[in-house]
Amino acid sequence: MRDTKAVLIHAARDLRMGTATIPALGPHDVEVRIRRGGICGSDLHYFQDGGFGAIRIREPLIPGHEIAGEVTAVGASVTGVAAGDRVAINPSRPCSHCAFCLAGTPRHCLDMRFLGSAMRFPHVQGGFREVLVCTEPQAVKLPPGVPLEHAAFAEPLAVCLHAATQAGPLLGQRVLVTGTGPIGALMILVARHAGAAEIVATDLTDATLAIARRIGADLAINMRTDPAGLERFHANKGWFDVVFEASGSGAALAAAIPAARPGAVIVQVGIGGDTALPLNVLVAKELQLRGTFRFDKEFAWAVAAIATGAIDVSPLLTEVVPADDAVRAFDLAADRSRAMKVQLAF
Ligand code: ZN
Repeated sequence: MRDTKAVLIHAARDLRMGTATIPALGPHDVEVRIRRGGICGSDLHYFQDGGFGAIRIREPLIPGHEIAGEVTAVGASVTGVAAGDRVAINPSRPCSHCAFCLAGTPRHCLDMRFLGSAMRFPHVQGGFREVLVCTEPQAVKLPPGVPLEHAAFAEPLAVCLHAATQAGPLLGQRVLVTGTGPIGALMILVARHAGAAEIVATDLTDATLAIARRIGADLAINMRTDPAGLERFHANKGWFDVVFEASGSGAALAAAIPAARPGAVIVQVGIGGDTALPLNVLVAKELQLRGTFRFDKEFAWAVAAIATGAIDVSPLLTEVVPADDAVRAFDLAADRSRAMKVQLAF
């Protein structure tokens, strides 16, 4: 058995470089030398709080599920990728035989193994490590020349592409995006790519709103300094056809509802706790509140959109930090006044 260097979270605020065992390569497995790993909100929750909600770290956890690297070895039955190929890693590993997998919705798999998650025990160890062994379907080959720091955006972009499919066609639509962290910013890129006529973004942080403007928002409103900023869209029962709520904040959802026109679709992308909702308004305006969870086929779409340049994720990358400096990277990623997306280099 060989060991590999890995980022390990032992408890809240206790993150250190350590080692993990590299499993033996099975016939359908692919060994990848990870190069880039994007820090996501859930990784930050593990680092800052030791988990979120009922999901807690119960053994040292390797976080990370936004990863890309180079194939170093493949199992005997692998045909789709070969040593030397560069790949984006799909962190989803569904069981492929439960009812949801068989129905073509593996994101709802009853036995999902999702990289870097403490949802099950033993935890599914994640991708913030030098060497990762995954299955062949998880290793999605990149065309030559795609920077790995762009490829590491495939996972959050896939989340947003799936959220867009939940909304329906966006061509010609007026879109509101609440929350302009990495997911909200990627939603703006996706809405622009999908032909939205108008995109308005809200957040509480000027720095991320400036990026929102740069990447395609027609108007970016700071709801902290301009709490009435959406009121101009209240007239005639509301303005927006589609809302992507990407902050997980009940206040953001509440502020979006009067700005949504009758029949509008509201896609809840951000994860939050309990919140109060004006059911009378949902009923009277026939608003359609929809959830969206991870992605299936959209991972391949995300890789293609990044590889062809159809969606340019580069304005979202704040800094690539050496993995040995992971604590600084996590602290930077948590500071929304300075950071959009922070990646680790392995
Ligand atoms: Zn399944």
